[in-house]
Amino acid sequence: MAHPDEHRQALTDGARGLLARGVITADEWLELCDLVTGAYSFAIEQRAAELFHQASTYDVFDSSWRKVGTATRGVLLFAGADWPLLIRHGDDGHLQAFSGTGFNFLAGTLQGLELTMENGRRFALVEVGRYLRGGVYVEAITDPDDFLLVLHAAAAAREDGDLARARHLLQRARVSPFRVCPTCRANFATLDECTRCAGLGFIRVTV
Ligand SMILES: [Zn+2]
Repeated sequence: MAHPDEHRQALTDGARGLLARGVITADEWLELCDLVTGAYSFAIEQRAAELFHQASTYDVFDSSWRKVGTATRGVLLFAGADWPLLIRHGDDGHLQAFSGTGFNFLAGTLQGLELTMENGRRFALVEVGRYLRGGVYVEAITDPDDFLLVLHAAAAAREDGDLARARHLLQRARVSPFRVCPTCRANFATLDECTRCAGLGFIRVTV
């Protein structure tokens, strides 16, 4: 694969070309660039709790990165447990895990994708897939090259005038652990020297 910088440059150049030729509108151009330069992800990052999606499926890992459970559509089940945990917003607006025993007591709190139980034990949730609108299940894109390929495909679909496919691919790209780099904010002025993301403009967020 080419260096990530070349990918990003090709993507932004490609999007700019589409706009210049009138293939896409300014709004669509912005939407496309958002995925590359991270403005969309910036908003997501501002709301860390919303890293968790009710429509997603997660593997649950303990602090040694052993898989100890799964969560699907807001229901988390530890292997061997009799009762699930229900993940939903508590009274204070934060995402919390409640015991699904019927008594509904607070079992833990979710920050980003880290679940801290009331007894102090911590678990990490890693997204493996998501149900999109319409009920279609898609697997999370966990490989950065695949992520960029989907962005390329979205740009190509736009160029072909297949906006439905482009929109689907952009929606698809959002089911991934990639977020804008918090150090350089994918800013062109500082991106190339950024050691955190190695000039890519985005990082992998797992917890
Ligand atoms: Zn960076």
